[in-house]
Amino acid sequence: MAFAPADEQELSQVVAAAAAEARPLRITGSGSKAGIGRPSIGEELSLRALSGVVLYEPEELVLIAGAATPIAGIEALLASHNQHLAFEPMDCGPLLGAGAGQGTVGGLVAVNASGPRRIKAGAARDHVLGFRCVTGRGEIVKSGGRVMKNVTGYDLSKLVAGSFGTLAALTQITLKTLPAPETSQTLVLLGTEEQAGLLALRKVSGAPLEASALALLPKGAAPLDLGENAAAIRLEGPEISVAQRLEDLRGLLKPFGGGVEILGGESSASLWRALRDAEPVASLDGHIWRVSVAPSDGFALVSALKESALPLLGYFYDWAGGLVWLCMADAEDAHAKPLRAAVDRLGGHATLIRASATTRAAVDVFHPQPPALAALSRRVKESFDPAHILERGRLRAEF
Ligand SMILES: Cc1cc2nc3c(=O)[nH]c(=O)nc-3n(C[C@H](O)[C@H](O)[C@H](O)COP(=O)(O)OP(=O)(O)OC[C@H]3O[C@@H](n4cnc5c(N)ncnc54)[C@H](O)[C@@H]3O)c2cc1C
Repeated sequence: MAFAPADEQELSQVVAAAAAEARPLRITGSGSKAGIGRPSIGEELSLRALSGVVLYEPEELVLIAGAATPIAGIEALLASHNQHLAFEPMDCGPLLGAGAGQGTVGGLVAVNASGPRRIKAGAARDHVLGFRCVTGRGEIVKSGGRVMKNVTGYDLSKLVAGSFGTLAALTQITLKTLPAPETSQTLVLLGTEEQAGLLALRKVSGAPLEASALALLPKGAAPLDLGENAAAIRLEGPEISVAQRLEDLRGLLKPFGGGVEILGGESSASLWRALRDAEPVASLDGHIWRVSVAPSDGFALVSALKESALPLLGYFYDWAGGLVWLCMADAEDAHAKPLRAAVDRLGGHATLIRASATTRAAVDVFHPQPPALAALSRRVKESFDPAHILERGRLRAEF
C-alpha cells in the first residue's frame, strides 16, 4: 500500500498507525535521492502534498517551505531577490540518473547536501533555522524558530540533517537565506603536479583571501577536459574586493609556477555547478564513492589507491583535498573493504553514493561507526522511532 497524506495531521495518523503495528514506511519527496543509502523497506509514504513556500521574507533572510517543495523553485525565487542558499546544495539527480532539478527541500536536509562553498559557509545543517516533523511515534514536533539562537536546549536541526529520514518525516523547513555574491571569479592554476596543486589550495585556504571554493581536477577530468591538472579557486564578493584578492592570490601562487586562467560570469558558475554535482565522476561508468579525509590526506589516499590493484576510473578533489570523489569499476562488493582499509589508515570516512540496489544492500554504504558512536546512534534512533518503522535499513541493516 502507498500513503500520500494531505497534511501534517493526516501524516501523524498514518505514522502512528504504522508504529502501532511496526509496519515500516519508506519516505519519499520526489524520489530523486532514493538511490543514496541502503535500500529501505516498507510501504511508500509520499510527502508530495506538503509542498509550497509558506513564507519568504528577504529582508529577514528567512524562508519557510513545505518539505516537498522543489529546490529548483526555491533557488529561482531567491535569485529573483539576489539571494541564495549559501551552502550550495548539490543536485544529486544527474549523478543518480534521476535528471536535474528534481530534489526537494526535505530531501536536501535529510541527506545534508552541501556543495563546494561548505568550506566557507558551512553545511546544509548550519542553515536550518528550524523545522516541523512527525517522529516515528507519530508525534508532531516543532524545533527551532526563525533566527539562529544560542540558547540552552537541543538543536535538533543538527540531528535531523543527514539522518536520511530515519528519525522523523520532515514536514516543514525554515532556512536561512543570504545575499548572493555581487561578483564571482575563479582562478585556475594549470599544469602543477597534483600534490603541489593541492598544497597550493591548502595555502589559499589558510590565507586571509576568503576563497569560497577550492577544488583540483586531474588532467583529462570533465568538465574542463584539459591535458594538465587544474586547481580551481573561487573568490566572491563586491567587485573591488574580488579584484584586490585576485591580485593577492596571484602573488601567493607565484612560487607554484604553472599557468593561470581567470574564469568569470557563466564560465565560473558552470564550472562550480559541475563540481557541485560531481560531474567529473558522474559522467563515468562505475561505482561512485565520496570520501571525507583531512585536506592534507586527500593526495595520500588517491596515491594509495593508485598503488593498490583497485580499478580507479576517475577522481577529483573538493574542499582543498578534504573531499575526494572516486569512481571505481563495478564489482559486486564495490571494493568496499580495501577502500575502507585505505581510508581508515588516514582517519576519514567513505560513503558509497552510486551503486545498484543489490550492492547497496550487501555492503556497508556508510562508514561503520566505532562501537560507542554506534550505540549512541541506536539510542537516538530508538527515542525518535522506537518501532524502527522510518526508513528501515537505510543507514544500517540492523535498523
Ligand atoms: C574543511 C573540512 C575538513 C574536514 N576534515 C575532515 C577530517 O579530517 N576527517 C574526516 O573524517 N572528515 C573531515 N571532513 C568532513 C566532515 O567532517 C564530514 O563530512 C562530516 O563529519 C560527516 O559527514 P557530513 O556532515 O558531511 O555528512 P554527509 O557525509 O553529507 O553524510 C550525510 C549524513 O549521513 C549520515 N552518515 C554519514 N556517515 C555515517 C555513518 N558512518 N553512519 C551513519 N550515518 C552516517 C550522517 O548523519 C551524515 O550527516 C572535513 C570537512 C571539511 C569541510
